[in-house]
Amino acid sequence: MKVLILGSGVVGVTSAYYLARQGHEVTVVDRQAAPAMETSYGNAGQVSFGFSSPWAAPGIPQKAVKWMFQEHAPLKIQPRMDPTMARFMAKMFGNCTAERYAVNKERMVRIAEHSRTCIDELRAETGIRYEDRQRGLLQLFRYDSQVEAVAKDMQVLERCGVRHRLLGADEITTVEPALSRVPGKFVGGLHLPDDQTGDCHLFTNRLADYCREQLGVEFRFGVDIQRIRRGNAGVEGVITSAGELTADAYVVCLGSYSPFLVKDLGVRLPIYPVKGYSLTVPVVDDGGAPQSTVMDETYKVAISRFDDRIRVGGTAELAGHDLSLPEKRRATIDMVVRDVFPEGGDADRAEFWSGLRPMTPDSTPIVGATRYDNLWLNTGHGTLGWTMSCGSAQLLSDLMASSEPRIDPQGLDVSRYVA
Ligand SMILES: Cc1cc2nc3c(=O)[nH]c(=O)nc-3n(C[C@H](O)[C@H](O)[C@H](O)COP(=O)(O)OP(=O)(O)OC[C@H]3O[C@@H](n4cnc5c(N)ncnc54)[C@H](O)[C@@H]3O)c2cc1C
Repeated sequence: MKVLILGSGVVGVTSAYYLARQGHEVTVVDRQAAPAMETSYGNAGQVSFGFSSPWAAPGIPQKAVKWMFQEHAPLKIQPRMDPTMARFMAKMFGNCTAERYAVNKERMVRIAEHSRTCIDELRAETGIRYEDRQRGLLQLFRYDSQVEAVAKDMQVLERCGVRHRLLGADEITTVEPALSRVPGKFVGGLHLPDDQTGDCHLFTNRLADYCREQLGVEFRFGVDIQRIRRGNAGVEGVITSAGELTADAYVVCLGSYSPFLVKDLGVRLPIYPVKGYSLTVPVVDDGGAPQSTVMDETYKVAISRFDDRIRVGGTAELAGHDLSLPEKRRATIDMVVRDVFPEGGDADRAEFWSGLRPMTPDSTPIVGATRYDNLWLNTGHGTLGWTMSCGSAQLLSDLMASSEPRIDPQGLDVSRYVA
């Protein structure tokens, strides 16, 4: 079967990999000049299966009000007349009940845990490396109240069989030795030893090379997708700046732009762009730098180690599709990396970047069929798109082949939003 994948972010390229392995003739099309040039370019580098949790959680609406008055708040809402943003927020806050949280968390963990298996298999099969490390994640607490609050998350991790350990202030340095240089800053941490790290841009590019060279996938870059054309037989073609492209099946992996392209087909995707920022800091002192990922719970900022660089990512801003880089947004992530690893990197020489997380109101990606037999979705991966990319792409390939999926697909496709 000829498959046309729309979008060459990490979700589009992993989809290409799994579909091409099944013997399909795959083409990937993207407006950028190379893979992973938009949201998959500069993310925080955590491949964090155990950390997969919905943002829509009990207590978030109250916290959101408090954050509005804080300088270094993890959430920023730009006041604007934007009905799509208002609808997204209403739906997201509607998911902040304990009941919805439990349903959404189970769905995220289901994909994330499958992703863990898939990425390990993928690394073994392809041999690609992407400055990856398999050394876990450490969630850091500055206050006792955070240690008390994590007890509930630990119960969920227990139920899901995710290995974890609560560490005291004197134990966190066994995992991240550089923290001994900032004594007294943290009261403890939660260690998830099976989480991973790596550069998503590198991963996507190396996997795209493998797909091209070993699996015969064709990549068409610099092509703007303008419209999906439907006819009596479902989708019949995609109108682009390079003319009309046709295939037997079409997969939408357009991140935060997915809703625009399927709207005219009557497919409503409740995906909103949640902007985030990152800094990439050159390492100047290995002993003062992180060894894997740490997550500063107070500011919800993740700091990951690549070979010679430290990636710091965070902030959730609701501001439409704006990608501007205001200095005041840099301040929070800059402050956190200097505070936690003051001697590890040279933050003055950091690269500042922004990206749009394709966020669904329930934080769970949308993977599966649509009302059109030959139109498929793999999008809406939000905060942990790289973490969930391999699992959701593998699932999609099973669904498209009508074979028994390796994980239960229940609740993951777009029909969950149809009342
Ligand atoms: C600050 C920040 C930190 C993050 N940290 C992490 C993390 O640590 N771990 C993690 O797992 N996830 C993280 N994420 C989330 C993760 O980066 C995303 O979920 C993931 O990159 C989404 O991938 P995607 O392929 O769906 O989207 P994208 O990477 O945005 O790919 C979509 C592609 O579609 C193309 N496209 C769109 N519209 C058109 C069009 N009209 N014509 C042609 N091409 C088009 C774009 O060019 C793009 O290449 C973070 C995100 C941000 C912003």
